[in-house]
Amino acid sequence: MIRTRYAPSPTGFMTIGNLRSALYEYLIAKHEGGVFILRIEDTDQQRYVEGATDAIFETLRITGLNFDEGPSVGGDYGPYIQSERKADYMPPALRLIKEGKAYYCFCEKERLQSLADEGGHVKYDRHCLQLSKDKIAAKIESGTPYVIRQLIPEGKTTFHDEVFGDITIENSELEDQILIKSDGMPTYNFANVVDDNAMAITHVVRGCEYLTSTPKYTLLYEALGWPIPIFVHLPLLQNSDGKKISKRHGDASIPQLVEMGFLPEAIINYVALLGWSPADNKEIFTLEELIQVFNAKNISKSPSTFDMKKMTWVNGEHIKGLPVEIYYSMALPFLQEAVKKPGMDYMYLAGITQSRVSFIKECGELVDFIDALPDYDIELYTHKKMKTNPDVARDSLKLAIAALKQLEDWNHTAIGEVVAKLAEESDFSKGQILWPIRTALSGKPTTPCGATEIAELLGKDESLKRLSAGLSKLQ
Ligand code: GLU
Repeated sequence: MIRTRYAPSPTGFMTIGNLRSALYEYLIAKHEGGVFILRIEDTDQQRYVEGATDAIFETLRITGLNFDEGPSVGGDYGPYIQSERKADYMPPALRLIKEGKAYYCFCEKERLQSLADEGGHVKYDRHCLQLSKDKIAAKIESGTPYVIRQLIPEGKTTFHDEVFGDITIENSELEDQILIKSDGMPTYNFANVVDDNAMAITHVVRGCEYLTSTPKYTLLYEALGWPIPIFVHLPLLQNSDGKKISKRHGDASIPQLVEMGFLPEAIINYVALLGWSPADNKEIFTLEELIQVFNAKNISKSPSTFDMKKMTWVNGEHIKGLPVEIYYSMALPFLQEAVKKPGMDYMYLAGITQSRVSFIKECGELVDFIDALPDYDIELYTHKKMKTNPDVARDSLKLAIAALKQLEDWNHTAIGEVVAKLAEESDFSKGQILWPIRTALSGKPTTPCGATEIAELLGKDESLKRLSAGLSKLQ
């Protein structure tokens, strides 16, 4: 059974990069019918940010990445918050001491600092490794503060990463890492390994910034005799300016993106593509579809760039795919704000705007000409393909106004028939009549429906008023 975990440290809101880790963990598990776990890694209380845990819950909830085990939902491997697991870390550290794979270190800060090399890097010199059993016991007895360090063995360490392949490093490059700090709390790395083992995690998915720490994790698993999980490190994620996306660089949080008008399913879809692509290059997916097709084998190791434009396009595609009644209910407040004309058919306005917006809130701008004709330049009457310009428009509008005045049953089909007849009987093509009508009625270069539909929406009186106003403008 595949068990993956998203293991955030509550040091701020979730960025796009954090969401990508969570999503890939989720997809790897769900693709195989496995279990997705949330574990809060809050051992480092100094970096704790008030409200960060709630922000993580909120983001996972909005995006639909429901965890099977975790804080609040529980599970057989709880608690799922590290600060509630304090008692679990000392026993494995003591076992390592017993087996000669770890040791107490009583060195003070000043001494450690004096070991710093020219670059300021401190590598511990194993001073306390020589202490006799009696000396250690006496120091502990007298309350001397200590840490517990892992004794890094000689040789090399190789681990396999699903994305980056085999990586080998010389153990001599590693320091005897601290497992338990002087306050009795585990270090971040130690707690991470102890918990991944305790929670039977099979796949560790995280950003590639953890690649350099993975030899240390590997040595810990080996020392403790625990199975090593499958590592999946994700490619670097950059902003379009080439900077790494981070909480500190003020990039938008997921709730902020939703506030800006991104649909959660579009965010998820776009984030899935940041470092992964399906074999057939399809780009638009629901979360369900992603679960079906996601395969860690298709994760790329080259850096991916967060592109707001692309995410905006993905958003538009998801809006197009919404069931019309859902789109209608989301668009209605914006349509009502933009168009207050009595008797308006808002369902119709929803229908003509749905496929034309990148954000739902843009729908109002597409139809706001219904209430108020904007001031426009007569150059709008020029259209090369339709072979119209202000002169053609002036003459064709004159004819159209005269003919439409006679029309009693004012609907777009009847209006269309009047235009067709006019085109037959005059020197103007249909386009040369429709383009000027549309321009005079909307004052916009593009509209979400054609001239005859606009005329029907506006009604006969208002339409004739606008057509005449257009004609005066042209004269
Ligand atoms: N707690 C780490 C973070 O917030 C995650 C490390 C991991 O997934 O192993 O980045």
